[in-house]
Amino acid sequence: MPPAYPYVGPAAIRRAVEGAPAGACIRSQADLEAWLQQNPAALDEGATFTVSLDGLLHLAPRRSEHVACAAGVPVLSAGEMRFAWRKPHPPVVTEVTNQSTGYCPEPSSFEDVARALRTAGLSAPPTWSWACVFRWCPGCGQLNLVKNDNFTCEACWSALPRERNL
Ligand SMILES: [Zn+2]
Repeated sequence: MPPAYPYVGPAAIRRAVEGAPAGACIRSQADLEAWLQQNPAALDEGATFTVSLDGLLHLAPRRSEHVACAAGVPVLSAGEMRFAWRKPHPPVVTEVTNQSTGYCPEPSSFEDVARALRTAGLSAPPTWSWACVFRWCPGCGQLNLVKNDNFTCEACWSALPRERNL
């Protein structure tokens, strides 16, 4: 079993989106086409995605909270996705990142994203467009987005752990 990532973001955000509609489940190319027709802004600005524990892709408009897209439950992955659609060809996923401060999934969750896309009959990019590594600072509690393998807190310069600590 791949790891499930529970929501680790602020409780206030989770409360604020209670009752908000969950992301649309994308089970086929036709589902993605229908969703893009209903959400044409996603072709310009991308979309929020989550992968549910049953391995399916869910999409919500770009500025949606990941915890709302996932209806509050743990996920296999989460992030942002971009698309291109040159009709009459089917839409394709052009970029995908694990940028979700609500779930902070590890880069290794790309496999689950690729599997969810294949399940829906969509081709997956070879890997993340860029991969995010998230760590809490044990010194000051800051959530850090680790860049360039530099495991140093951006707020207090404490060393950050190599292992996930969320
Ligand atoms: Zn710190």
